[in-house]
Formats: sequence, structure tokens, C-alpha cells
Amino acid sequence: MLKALVFVLYAASASPLVFPAVDDQLFRPEYSGSRFAREGRQKRWMSESSRRLRRQNFVFPTKEIEDFLTSIRGKPSSDTIVFPGPSGKPFVPSGEFGYGSEDGPSTWFREFPFCGLKRQSPIDIDLSRARRPPSHEDSALFFNNYDALPSRLTVMNSGHSLRLTGEWAAGKRPTISGLALHGDYSFSEIHFHWGEDDGEGSEHMVQGRRFPLEMHEVHYKTEYGSFNESLKKRDGLVVISYLFNIGKHNHPLSRILKVSGDVVRPESPAVDIDPFRLDELAPPFGRNYAVYVGSLTTPPCTEIVTWIVNLEPQHVSSEQLQNLRGLMRSAGTRMLFNFRPVQSLNGRTVMRVP
Ligand SMILES: [Zn+2]
Repeated sequence: MLKALVFVLYAASASPLVFPAVDDQLFRPEYSGSRFAREGRQKRWMSESSRRLRRQNFVFPTKEIEDFLTSIRGKPSSDTIVFPGPSGKPFVPSGEFGYGSEDGPSTWFREFPFCGLKRQSPIDIDLSRARRPPSHEDSALFFNNYDALPSRLTVMNSGHSLRLTGEWAAGKRPTISGLALHGDYSFSEIHFHWGEDDGEGSEHMVQGRRFPLEMHEVHYKTEYGSFNESLKKRDGLVVISYLFNIGKHNHPLSRILKVSGDVVRPESPAVDIDPFRLDELAPPFGRNYAVYVGSLTTPPCTEIVTWIVNLEPQHVSSEQLQNLRGLMRSAGTRMLFNFRPVQSLNGRTVMRVP
């Protein structure tokens, strides 16, 4: 009842919803005219905003950011996805795909129908067209336990990338929450995408620019218990993406790369490395990132991923990238590059938290 009343009040307010605390030109009164006129408008806007906030008992920021995210990614949904296989039977991802001319991204949709759908990843992030969240506070992102030392860290060759997984004491596995995510998401793995030379490699582009390396930090919805269970759910995964520029040696990264020579082949046994805190390799961030909904960038290309792309690039040396290119893929060829080209946005909105 109270909600309905609040909604009526909201719907009845003529001007767009505004918050005095948010420093965001998009949601402020028009900046034009004489200084006197501007200040008058500003004053009226401020008092109207605070009146409205008092009236609404501050319920709107959270609801508004939720509505905003819903407008970007659709209604939160835990629906189970049926994998349509080529023969109509439920599809079991087999891992047989590559990046060459015969088995590369342009062919994936034949074996993996989701790869041909409309909400695919990666994308080119156009910052000029991205929307800002209505409220910064409610779009906050929380990194929990990223400073907890794992009891075990393991590096392996997945056949498609170099993969890092970990184990933590009970209750200490890193999670992310906030951003109206509707629950916690637990760390699953980190892996990398790179290119044949330093002019390419990242999957996401920003303003048409590619980076030499992209790191994906995959999280599954804690409620679903595992990555595999989350793979079947619409709201199953959150992937945090870090982009890299060529620069000085990245020390946390070298802790992983120093064993890359021991896992050259996908058949190579996984190698345990000295545990280190995840926040050393993947620094938590709270601003300057983009959010959109998309898919896994590898088959089965399931459209269950909320992407959070950190727009502040990290650094990696050319020599470190060369280590990655020394890995071999399943087919026995070198893993010289493993990035999927950008996909059409198809009407999706990208949110940018400045
Ligand atoms: Zn990836």
C-alpha cells in the first residue's frame, strides 16, 4: 500500500527524478542562460528535490538504480536455460572450438547456437553513448575477502587460456556484491585473453581501441553453489574485466606466469603456486567502470553474464605477454591469440560509473 502511494507520488511528479547529492550534469537542471537565471533554477530544483526526497522517505535511490539496471539488463531472473543442441537434445558443452580459420569465432554458432544470438560479448564500449547511473551510492560495488590469503592457488592450461583457481578457508572465498546485483557472486577463476602481437589481444574495446591483454575474473552466483550450476541460470555469472597497457613488469602477474612453462600443454598437470591475495593481481575498484549484460566470450556463449569492465588499465610488459604466446592449445598448435572479435550491441545500453 505504501509502495503504491509512493509510486503515485513519483508518477505525479512532473520533472525527472533528481538527487541533490549526485554530481551529475545529466540529472541536473539545464546549464544555460544568465548566471542569475541558472542560480534561480538551481535553487528551485534543489528545494524541490529535497522536498521530494523527504516526502518519499529516501526509498527511491535503491529502487531507481534497480530500475535503471533492469532497463539495461532486463528483469532479474533465475530462470533455468535449456541448451539447445544441434540434434535438439540438451546441449553439453564439449570444449571443441578454437580461434583459427576452421574453428574460429565466425564458425562457433554452428556447434554452439547461443553464439549467434543478440546479446553477445565482447563489445566495443562507446563512452559517449553510455548512460550514467542515477545515483553513485547505489551503484556501489563491493569486493569482499579480496584481501584474504588463499590456502591454495592453482595454475593450469585450459586449452583455451591460462587459468588460475583457488581455495580459501570457510567463509573466506572472495565475493562481489552491491550494484543491485541481487546477491553475492563468488570467485571462480581468473583467465586471460591475448593477441599475436602487442597491438591486439583484448576482447573488449574502449572507444574503438584494443588492448594487448584482458584478464577475466569470473564469479558465479553464490546461491547456486557452483560455476556449473550457475551456467544454467539467467543471472548466473558476473565477470570483472581488467584491461592492460604495455608498460613495466607486472609483479603479481609474474607469480602466475613463472609456471607457464610447466603447463605448456592442456594435458600438463595443474601446478600449485605460492598463495597470494587476489587484490594484488586484481585491485578492487569503485569508479571508472562500465556495466552491461552479455554472454560468455567462448562457447557455449551463454547470455548469462553481467559484465563489469574496469576502465582504468593495468600494466604488463611485452616479455610477459610473450610467455602467454608460448602455451599450446588442444589441437597441438600454439596459443598465439585467443580473443573473440567485438559483437553488435543490438540496442543494449552500457552503464558507465564515472
Ligand atoms: Zn574470458
